[in-house]
Amino acid sequence: MNTEQVDVLIIGAGPAGTVAASIIHKAGYKVKIVEKMKFPRFVIGESLLPRCMEALEEAGFLEAVKAKGFQDKGGAKFVKNGKICDYSFDDQYTKGWTWTWQAPRADFDKTLADEVEKMGVPVSYETTVTAIDFDGSDSTTTVEYANGEKAQVKARFIVDGSGYGRVIPRLFKLDKPSNLEPRKAMFAHVTDEKRAMADEPNRITIIVHEFGVWIWVIPFSNGNTSIGFVGSPEFFEKFKGSNEEQFRAHIASQPYLSERFKDAELIFEPRILEAWSSTTEKFYGDGFVLTGNVTEFLDPVFSSGVTLATVSSQKAAKLVIKKLKGEDANWEEDYTKPMMQGVNTFRSYVMRWYDGTLDTIFFADNQDPLIKSMICSVLAGYVWDLDNPYVKDHDTALKKLANTITVRDMFKNKE
Ligand code: FAD
Repeated sequence: MNTEQVDVLIIGAGPAGTVAASIIHKAGYKVKIVEKMKFPRFVIGESLLPRCMEALEEAGFLEAVKAKGFQDKGGAKFVKNGKICDYSFDDQYTKGWTWTWQAPRADFDKTLADEVEKMGVPVSYETTVTAIDFDGSDSTTTVEYANGEKAQVKARFIVDGSGYGRVIPRLFKLDKPSNLEPRKAMFAHVTDEKRAMADEPNRITIIVHEFGVWIWVIPFSNGNTSIGFVGSPEFFEKFKGSNEEQFRAHIASQPYLSERFKDAELIFEPRILEAWSSTTEKFYGDGFVLTGNVTEFLDPVFSSGVTLATVSSQKAAKLVIKKLKGEDANWEEDYTKPMMQGVNTFRSYVMRWYDGTLDTIFFADNQDPLIKSMICSVLAGYVWDLDNPYVKDHDTALKKLANTITVRDMFKNKE
């Protein structure tokens, strides 16, 4: 069997894998990416958050992505029964990036992977990791090519950015169930000839469809738009027929979308994903670190996936470099703790979204601009700014605010 030796083996060429690969390669180490699929490949997750721009910048990817002309994104708009709550990232409390992109991920991820290859990191496509043996922190990974042939990669360290593949948690039985309820999504890309009648393109629009069910609308610069319905599996059981029939029935049942998309062509047959939330016993071990979706993926509602993927890789890469240099790397303090801080902030927002707390806040009259700017920073992905009370005390701050609004509205209604 063919065997090669690298300093760092990266599993997966998604945003988590390529950001880690670039930063470690720039520090002078021999890095290799193995990727199961042939690129471009479809993956969902098209609306980014401004915070991920810092990671893309450090990885040296920004210019290549800019050159692709993807749709810029400057905020998020929430819609419920005709009421609109718009968040512009220009108004956010934390100083940082105020814009990002909305991009079909096949093109976006290929741009990053091509760029990292240009920098000198080989990406071996159609190469699936099937086994890993650790000997202390050194490892021997077995990979299988599309033609069934096998090879081995010896590495001093592994970064697992395998996303939904969850390679190391699966091989070493580290997977843990999530504390979030299982949800399901049905989505497609569609033509959007009548875009001008509703949404500005530089926003994700999130529509409250019914309690616990919401819709994303993500316009792209190629004229197409991504639409996805998310809810409990029971919600979807009410609809019968092919995926296309169900998808069109969902659109017809939502007044905000029905006229705009009634004649839209589907770019591909609507796809279904479900039960995506998962977590793992640990984020690192002797000789490996997990980054991106492999650590913990919560829910799509606040578009946190790519941001958590790129920021986790940005942080992990620095510790991998320390470790390779023979310096002390404090994984617990400098990796798990900050990542859990970000994940737990988003977890509170996800939970308060599904129980209606955020509806009360988003659609309240006379919103306090300072509080709105603080919540806006979370929606921009700045979930590590502990000066922001809506980050520091995420769950209690949201509950208190919703209670204040409810009590205020009760008194107003009595007047
Ligand atoms: P991925 O992008 O999944 O990349 C992992 C790569 O590893 C893949 O290319 C895969 O082929 C490869 N791989 C897997 N197994 C192996 C193996 N054995 N050997 C070699 N390679 C392997 N996020 C957002 O930021 N914005 C959104 O709007 C958004 N919407 C979403 C909607 C839904 C319904 C869902 C479920 C998720 C959404 N997400 C969104 C989350 C987003 O999909 C992920 O968070 C993001 O893709 C994570 O990036 P990653 O690099 O960790 O993994």
